[in-house]
Amino acid sequence: MQLHEYQAKNILNEHNVPIPFGKVASSDLECEEIAKSINGRSVIKAQVHAGGRGKAGGIKVTEGPEEAKKVAQEMLGSTLKTFQSGGTEFPINKVYVEEASDISREFYLAVTMDFDEKCPVIIFSTEGGMNIEEVAEKTPEKIIKIHVNPLIGPSPYKIRNLLSLLKLEKKVSQQIFSIIQNLYEIFNSLDCTLIEINPLAVTKKEKALALDAKITIDDDSIFRHSDLEDLFDKTQMNQAELKALSSDLAYIKLDGGKVGCMVNGAGLAMATMDITIKAGTAPANFLDVGGSASEERIEEAYKIIASDRDVEIILVNLFGGILRCDVAAKGIINGFKESNNSIPMVVVLRGTNSNDAKLLLEKSALDISFAEDLPSAALEIRNKLGIS
Ligand code: GDP
Ligand code: MN
Repeated sequence: MQLHEYQAKNILNEHNVPIPFGKVASSDLECEEIAKSINGRSVIKAQVHAGGRGKAGGIKVTEGPEEAKKVAQEMLGSTLKTFQSGGTEFPINKVYVEEASDISREFYLAVTMDFDEKCPVIIFSTEGGMNIEEVAEKTPEKIIKIHVNPLIGPSPYKIRNLLSLLKLEKKVSQQIFSIIQNLYEIFNSLDCTLIEINPLAVTKKEKALALDAKITIDDDSIFRHSDLEDLFDKTQMNQAELKALSSDLAYIKLDGGKVGCMVNGAGLAMATMDITIKAGTAPANFLDVGGSASEERIEEAYKIIASDRDVEIILVNLFGGILRCDVAAKGIINGFKESNNSIPMVVVLRGTNSNDAKLLLEKSALDISFAEDLPSAALEIRNKLGIS
């Protein structure tokens, strides 16, 4: 679960990581009021679940309350697409209004999991700011990592070692030392998968401050943090994924493909997606209805897949066990009737009541081809999409 910058900063503040004064606003008037309480320039920051806002126009430095109000008017109610958002337009429902800082240096600091080393890792770079991706690619030696034994926590001498390389003023060095320790404490106690401060700024007055903050909590640990559940902002999620979630269906939207995939079980999902690629195309999404879906849930599943505008063909690959194939067929037919479209379908149905299912589907008005197995399904997909 990803948090907004303003929520993450609240957590940082509670754990003694210094942040500039700031408040969140949902209206231009509210934004103006906050800007009035700030003496001087304020920064207006779009609250969306995507990084790279600076380059996309989602971060604006303003001279005073009047300009702050104008910027909020423009931002609120609009959407933001950044180089990190994978084509998605995120709605801006809130802006964060922050006291502007006089920055002298920008560092990068993060704690995340290193799955190769099987432990948390602290990542630091002197080249913070908006181009960290480029730094990682072109000058990886400028990114320093400290691996952490989770039973002991980060060793102070390793942090001191890192800081000694930077040749900072002692005062600044001490502040960053505490920030790193506090950040690790948040990472550990909140079961984060990522906590990132970019930039970690040092101001002209030699104060270290978190100017941006990103926190992602491990979804599988949310049950341990019921107080964090309220921080979930569903407006930032893909709406079809959200709908699927509320029907207990696992739906994932994928970029660049044409085939909508309806499957039951994760293994079948992988094999089904592979076969779309063997057919010379790619999956647009996949939806796992689970092992024991009802007719209504299959209907909902069909509607979600069919509502994806990238889908030109639907591949159904179901293995009937507890889920009977005829029940699935009825759900598909209902979904088709309700969503009123003519997306062609290739269907592989095996297991319980698969013959009954085929009879039902044949009688329907669906544009449908049956395949006995996945290789023949791949051929059908090629035919229907006209791939030579
Ligand atoms: P991101 O682009 O989504 O990562 O958004 P950030 O919050 O990191 O802001 C992008 C950039 O805006 C930062 O790297 C800073 O250079 C700049 N910025 C953010 N806050 C301030 C501020 O208070 N003062 C100044 N001068 N620049 C800021
Ligand atoms: Mn940033």
